[in-house]
Order: sequence, then C-alpha cells, then structure tokens
Amino acid sequence: TDTDTADEAVRATCDDATTCKRFATSKGYWKDPYIQYFARSVGERKAPEINRGYYARVQGVNHLLDAFIKKAECDCQVINLGAGLDTTFWRLKDENLMPRKFFEVDFPTVVARKIHNIKTKPPLSKPIIETHSTDSLLLETLSECVCSDAHSLDSDRYCIIGADLRDVSNLDEKLKKFQLNPELPTLLLSECVLVYMTPSQSSNLVHWAAETFHTAMFINYEQVNMSDRFGQVMIENLQRRQCTLAGVEACQSLDSQKERFLKTGWENADALDMMTVYSMLPQDDVARIERLEFLDERELLQQLLQHYSICWASKDKHNLGLSQLAF
Ligand code: SAM
Repeated sequence: TDTDTADEAVRATCDDATTCKRFATSKGYWKDPYIQYFARSVGERKAPEINRGYYARVQGVNHLLDAFIKKAECDCQVINLGAGLDTTFWRLKDENLMPRKFFEVDFPTVVARKIHNIKTKPPLSKPIIETHSTDSLLLETLSECVCSDAHSLDSDRYCIIGADLRDVSNLDEKLKKFQLNPELPTLLLSECVLVYMTPSQSSNLVHWAAETFHTAMFINYEQVNMSDRFGQVMIENLQRRQCTLAGVEACQSLDSQKERFLKTGWENADALDMMTVYSMLPQDDVARIERLEFLDERELLQQLLQHYSICWASKDKHNLGLSQLAF
C-alpha cells in the first residue's frame, strides 16, 4: 500500500543519518568509534556544509543531553525516540555518563537490524553485557536478553523496543513492560523523527511524555523555517525519494516548535536555529573543524543551518534546575 511505501522510505532515513555521521567522523569532525559497526563503509564524499551541519547537530544535541544527565547525577532515564542506528548509549558508557537505563524505540524492522548488529559485533555487545548485573557469562551471546520475535532486547541498562511512535498507548505499554520508571527524571530525545509524523501524531506523543513524567526534558532536532524557497527545495528533494514530511506544518518557525510543547503540558520551551547553535558551540573546536575542509560558500552553510533547529522543553517537579539548561 501507499502507507507501507511511505513508512519504508521513512525507515530508510536512518541509513542516511548513519552514513553521513560515519563520513563526518572519518574526516575528524568528532569521534565515534562505534558508528563503523552500523554503516558498512565510509561511503561517498559529502559536501563540507553537510559535514558541518551534522557536527552542529551532534554537538548541539549532546550538549543538552549531557547537561541533563549531569544535573540528574545519572540517576535518570533516557528514551531515544526514532533512535535508528544511533550510538549515544555507547558514548555515554565510555564517558561515565550512563543513565540508570537507556531506552531506544524505532520501527520493528529497524530494531531487528540493530539487534543483529549488536549481537554480532563484540564492541557493541560487550558494554551491554558488562552493565548487566546477573552472571555475565550466561549472557555471552545476549540471547537471553532478546525477545523471541527479535523485535526487542532488554538488559539492565539498555533496552531497545520495536514500536510505532504514532501508536502512543502501545508505546506506553511496551515501555512499562520493560521497567520504564515514571518517577525517575527522564530525558526524551527525537532527532529528525517528529517531522515524519502529522502534527497531531507528534503532539500526542509529546503530550504523552508530559503526562507520564513529572520531571523531564524533551530534546527535538528537526527542520524549521520550511515555508521559504530553500525549505520548499528541501521538501521536494525528500519527496523525490517517496519521503513525505507529514509534520512540516509544525516546522514553520521556532515559535511553532515551542508551541507544540507549551500546548501539551510542558512548563518551559526554548528553540534555536542551528546557525545560532553553531555560533554558541565552543569556538575553539569550531575553529578546529573549520580547518578540516575548505568551504567556499559560507552562505550555503548559513542557509542550511537556518533550516534546522533544536527545541528543548522541560517540566521540573523535583527542582533539578532543568529550565536553566541552555547553550
Ligand atoms: N534519530 C536517529 C539519528 O538521528 O541518527 C535516526 C534518524 S532517521 C532520520 C529517523 C528515524 O525515525 C528512522 O530510524 C525511522 O525508522 C524512525 N521513525 C520515524 N517514524 C517513526 C515511527 N512512527 N515509529 C517508529 N520510528 C519511527
């Protein structure tokens, strides 16, 4: 059906993110020793502005994520919604910033692929086994953690679940089955995910999160300012690959990004376009990456980064100081 084709095109976007991240790390934009296990090869060259865009995305999201985990002193949960082949769990383990439990959710077929990679690549499976409290030897192959349908894996500190984010009650049920704790401070992350859902579907998801957790932060990275000419070209490029940005209406402006949260029970919301984020990242490191590749058209970089944003929202019953988290 048309829906299947559309969903398949959306699922394929996780490979784009992974190959772009792998390419940028191969050039030295940032370090990610785990991405190689999810993208078979470095792949074809990407333009310097694309690499800088991914640098801003990864550094920007990591900045807020790490700040949240430090505020909570790791006594928290992280839920990566539409995680694709993301490697954040492994980075947090290496940086001693592991939350009590790290959840990932994506479509069942994407999850099955990720579980296969984890099971067959020791550098990926080892940290999951090491952080599991019961006899590690028994877990050598992780088989005991993988559900019989291969669409989920659950260990003490890492859990990956196959589910459709548009079906919030099913999502809620599955997360609770895997010991999600609504009482713990919780960080929800969606990176280029909500834009593939209609505005009412993404609002439902964001509303569910606000209702479920009393102390939480939501970080959303995606397109913004999509009504101008440059935005139209971005939409057309995706449509050519059968990929519809069903949620583009919610991406009209930084205000519409914040509104989605403020209308659904979140106390605070902030949003910045990625050009602004780029200018607020540690400038010594920005200077370092700007020397990696020559960029002739700075204007193109600016235009591109002005069409992506980070929006973050919080509610803070436990007074962790979440509303202060910023760049
Ligand atoms: N967040 C990852 C990253 O930044 O590397 C992956 C981004 S990729 C562009 C979008 C991901 O969202 C895909 O893995 C896709 O399968 C997932 N996704 C989109 N809509 C979804 C839905 N309704 N239910 C579950 N996953 C979904």
